[in-house]
Amino acid sequence: MIRVTVFNEFVHERTEERVRNVYPEGIHMALKGFLESDEISVKTATLLDEECGLTEEVLNDTDVIIWWGHMAHEKVPDEIAERVQKAVLNGMGAIFLHSAHFSKPFRLLMGTPCSLTWREDGDFERVWAVNPAHPIAQGIDRFIYLPSEETYGEPFMVPEPDETVFIGGYEGGEVFRSGLCYRRGFGKIFYFQPGHETNPTFFVPDIQRVIKNAVYWANPIYRGDAYNCPHVKKP
Ligand code: ZN
Repeated sequence: MIRVTVFNEFVHERTEERVRNVYPEGIHMALKGFLESDEISVKTATLLDEECGLTEEVLNDTDVIIWWGHMAHEKVPDEIAERVQKAVLNGMGAIFLHSAHFSKPFRLLMGTPCSLTWREDGDFERVWAVNPAHPIAQGIDRFIYLPSEETYGEPFMVPEPDETVFIGGYEGGEVFRSGLCYRRGFGKIFYFQPGHETNPTFFVPDIQRVIKNAVYWANPIYRGDAYNCPHVKKP
């Protein structure tokens, strides 16, 4: 069983009707809805929960964390962001969706500004599988077509990824590195660009497939104390 924790700040859905209409129960519940299976169990956490629902105990019992945030990144206390960073370095998998590029844990793990260019004109996007042999791209036939998605453009101020799985191309001609893999410490990290709050992107079967594939990919095969620097005896 892969134990997934979905963190969603859960602000837009409570304060904006046009977002509530798309995700009436919140983005976290939409993600939980398609992820939960015989092999994947899903817990959710939001800003409404004590310690953002991300206590040490929760993280210890989490194999893969999924993060969605946008307008309330600063509401996540530094201490909790550092707790997530540490858990990833010790082996927990992490998937950052869309505007989570600016979340505190993602920026801590990248060590760069993680800024990008953007505009919201309802452009279509094609998310191209540029690495079709990658486990996260399995089942995707060349590209995913999204009739309307927020445009994210380069430069995306992240470190050069270990692997680029998807590149998004938009109606306006922009391109964006949409699916990126990183290894940090013992942990695996996947950033995936689609998922603006006013678009029903998380109901698109191929988007769900990619996120599910990413859960299997990021599921740790090893967890340890990446911070410890033990003095050892000669073997
Ligand atoms: Zn957005």
